[in-house]
Amino acid sequence: MKNYQIRGILCLILALVLAVSAAACGPADPTEPPTAPPTDPPTDPTDPTGSSYIPDAKIEGSDLYVKKVDNIPHDFIMGMDASSVIAEEASGVKYYNFEGQEQDVFQTLAESGINYIRVRVWNDPYDAQGNSYGGGNCDIRTALEIGKRATKYGMKLLVDFHYSDFWADPGKQMVPKAWAGMTIEEKTQALYEYTRDSLNLLKEAGVDVGMVQVGNETNGTFCGERIWFNMQYLFQAGSKAVREVYPEALVAIHFANPEKDGSYDTYASKLDYYHVDYDVFASSYYPYWHGTLENLTQVLTRINQTYGKKVMVVETSYAYTPEDTDFNGNTIGEGGAVTKNYPYTVHGQATCVRDIIETVVNIPGGIGVCYWEGTWITVGRNSWEENHEKWEKFGSGWASSWAASYDPEDAGKYYGGCAVDNQAMFGPDGKPLESLRVFNLVRYGNEVTPKADALEDVMLTVDIGKDVVLPETVNAIMTDGSRSAVPVTWNVTAEELAAMSAGVGKHTVTGVADGMEAKAFVTVIEFNYLVNDSFETGDMTGWILENLGQAEEMYVEEKVTDSLTGSWHYHFWSSKTDSVKFDLEQTVEGLSSGTYKFSISIMGGDCGETNIYAYVKINGELVKAEPLTVTSYGNWDTATIRGIEYHEGDTITVGIHVQCRGEGNGAWGKIDDAMLNSDNG
Ligand code: CA
Repeated sequence: MKNYQIRGILCLILALVLAVSAAACGPADPTEPPTAPPTDPPTDPTDPTGSSYIPDAKIEGSDLYVKKVDNIPHDFIMGMDASSVIAEEASGVKYYNFEGQEQDVFQTLAESGINYIRVRVWNDPYDAQGNSYGGGNCDIRTALEIGKRATKYGMKLLVDFHYSDFWADPGKQMVPKAWAGMTIEEKTQALYEYTRDSLNLLKEAGVDVGMVQVGNETNGTFCGERIWFNMQYLFQAGSKAVREVYPEALVAIHFANPEKDGSYDTYASKLDYYHVDYDVFASSYYPYWHGTLENLTQVLTRINQTYGKKVMVVETSYAYTPEDTDFNGNTIGEGGAVTKNYPYTVHGQATCVRDIIETVVNIPGGIGVCYWEGTWITVGRNSWEENHEKWEKFGSGWASSWAASYDPEDAGKYYGGCAVDNQAMFGPDGKPLESLRVFNLVRYGNEVTPKADALEDVMLTVDIGKDVVLPETVNAIMTDGSRSAVPVTWNVTAEELAAMSAGVGKHTVTGVADGMEAKAFVTVIEFNYLVNDSFETGDMTGWILENLGQAEEMYVEEKVTDSLTGSWHYHFWSSKTDSVKFDLEQTVEGLSSGTYKFSISIMGGDCGETNIYAYVKINGELVKAEPLTVTSYGNWDTATIRGIEYHEGDTITVGIHVQCRGEGNGAWGKIDDAMLNSDNG
């Protein structure tokens, strides 16, 4: 996962000021790499029963509602990525146990049912002066330290080699500095030797490595390579080294975006075609990005049944609160008013994890679930300035300013703290959240009396001039996932409601229900003559396609984060030059004579040369058009065509024409929110 950093201009200015002043005072002390030999006596890695720290019985007394998942194998992987712990501790973070006493966080994890620790490994996350890029300073020495502690508490280690000097993910697979310019043969040898030597370091210290990932989210690019013919050698080299050093360990290859139609089948067939030796087809699954659990089940089942591979969710997480605690904006949580399957509460987080575990247990060949960075919490609670100093000095933020020399476009611009502190399983005070116990309780069930945990938001769309009528009850989300209607008192007067309906706009009304704050999001719109204007029916209702080219993917897609409003939008993608071409349009009948306006929105990228425009046809003749441009992810462009003269009996067709030459990774785009309204000036 990459940390999408969203910050205010103020933070950016402060960052620049501090970066400049830090540079003026000379670089901060580089983090000292740990050089001391291992001292902790490792537990016997061959002991099949594991350590006494891992409870073989239910944790009693928890008020966390957890519905039992049947048939969880004893050795099912309950993993936690804890890669940033060492940098967190260096920054002064203290972790506590459930009794409130300071305790090794790895012991707390083991006692809560975690049996695997995952750690990412970067080749050389330091600049020429030895300054750390941050993100936990995760080189092999950090992994060694984490591995020793995981082993001490009876947990296995999952080593996640990125084969990069910093974050590797679907958007970024930068080659390590030392390997830049190598031929594929040289790089293959270097990767083999690096993997072998790194694993030997862990082995000599007695670290119980159970699984090794050869690459991280290698969606068609890996270690600077972009074609499978080259990538195969690198996968093979990594796998070979694992087999030699840790013959009992599983070899995993890791991908992201299971929601991308057919992509996993492609990756698995490439690995098969090139005879890559691996055991586990591992997937990221972030519920707010990666489609439904039903889809995940389908794609991973197909991998298991076609290729006989084990499968798992190797990264997932969910928010326990919408609040940010480290003064660095978070990936999810802020803004509210998004459709979500689970509330952003401790219970919602636990239920989300529980449902993912249930899903993987029921997939043939499903061996485990690993939570991502549940221990990455704020390094301080006072100010951004104080935290920034620690992120820079100890590498406990997602990136330090020093990362700019390696990754100028992303880390170099947006370096800072943690974007997932609200998805941790420890609070900002270092105390474990009750949700951490889900890894134990899910094996036994803990069906305590359900209680109201959160309220569902009310989403209301009202035509201009019509009464805004708020509901008398709202749904409480119960801890067992059920819904229960409770009476609500809205903090709004009749006059205020009348004022809302007088003009186009968005309003938030708050209220109180069952002692919690209720929220109603009211959108007042002009009457829209189009049907399925935001694709929320989940299909093509109302819409047709004309002048179709050869795009590889075109469909109505469910993804909140890629929709302008609601959960659905129209999606297209293609890797072939000049293949994206279509008209997406809707024909409306029965309008009264008058003046109308039409608008529609699009975002996209990698499109190369484009010809995109919104258009209006009367009786099949093009009468008006308005150009649109696509730039990059999240940048929506809206075209509005005004002054459309319409006479009763005519046929009016409105739509969007899309034509892209495409470049690099292939043209892609998202279309949403079409509106045909009266144009009253
Ligand atoms: Ca944050």
